[in-house]
Amino acid sequence: SLAGRVALVTGSTSGIGLGIAESLAKRGCDVILHGLCGPGEMINSKTVIEGHKVRTHFEDHDLSDASEVYKMADSIVKAFPNGIDILVNNAGFQSVSEVTSFSVEIWQKMLGVHLTAPFLLAKQFLPSMISKGWGRIINVSSVHGLVASPYKAAYVSAKHGLVGFTKVVALETAGTGVTCNAICPGWVETPLFIKQVEAKSKEQNISFEEAKRQMVNSHATQEPVKVEHIGELVAFTCSPASDQITGSCLVIDGGWTAP
Ligand code: NAD
Repeated sequence: SLAGRVALVTGSTSGIGLGIAESLAKRGCDVILHGLCGPGEMINSKTVIEGHKVRTHFEDHDLSDASEVYKMADSIVKAFPNGIDILVNNAGFQSVSEVTSFSVEIWQKMLGVHLTAPFLLAKQFLPSMISKGWGRIINVSSVHGLVASPYKAAYVSAKHGLVGFTKVVALETAGTGVTCNAICPGWVETPLFIKQVEAKSKEQNISFEEAKRQMVNSHATQEPVKVEHIGELVAFTCSPASDQITGSCLVIDGGWTAP
């Protein structure tokens, strides 16, 4: 059980983050929800999590801006003076273009959200985890933290960087009761995935179903991952059976990276 623990899950108003928040809340963990969204989406995710009778709190800071990350950390420390026990760095987005035409602004934003924000949040919350002798940092990377695809220079670079950061934190916290791992999913059925299916279907003038089939073709299983699968994997990394799993990339990709 995770009763008495507090988790911050960034990007938990939608998709994978909401699935992770739900798996943790099911086990009695209090959850700090976070995301950029309208009130409707926020109320929806709060309602889902509060259904598990745990405490919730909501933050809506833009993680591409370091000063917003600091503001969020301050606000969380005020609401939870003992700090948090589980940090899930999940917030993210995608942007696709050839390197030669890739926007510098989007490159910076990508590194800000996927790499600098996880660093700043780990820096903020690690000391209290270490002093309490237990903590979990889970960085949601991607198969794109391990292999590349064209047109995703910023995303692939940021996700590879996040894997490297994970390993350093694991080494620095080894033996303290804190672990740090990366989750590397293939295609997961979320709004971010659906947007990419829609873009492909439009560009190539093929049906939504055909575009989806072609994308999921990178999985040996030909089936996408579900958000619940990721949520339960994160919950496993928070269980005592995972005490010796640290600095790992937990790959959940339907066999994408097996060949
Ligand atoms: P999603 O679009 O459903 O949700 C993204 C979340 O991140 C939302 O809560 C959104 O508000 C938040 N977010 C986006 N930009 C932000 C910003 N600038 N500041 C703060 N919050 C921001 O996406 P998802 O598919 O659930 O993706 C979650 C994570 O999983 C991302 O890091 C993504 O790269 C990774 N991932 C997704 C897939 C996939 O196929 N869906 C595969 C591998 C990895």
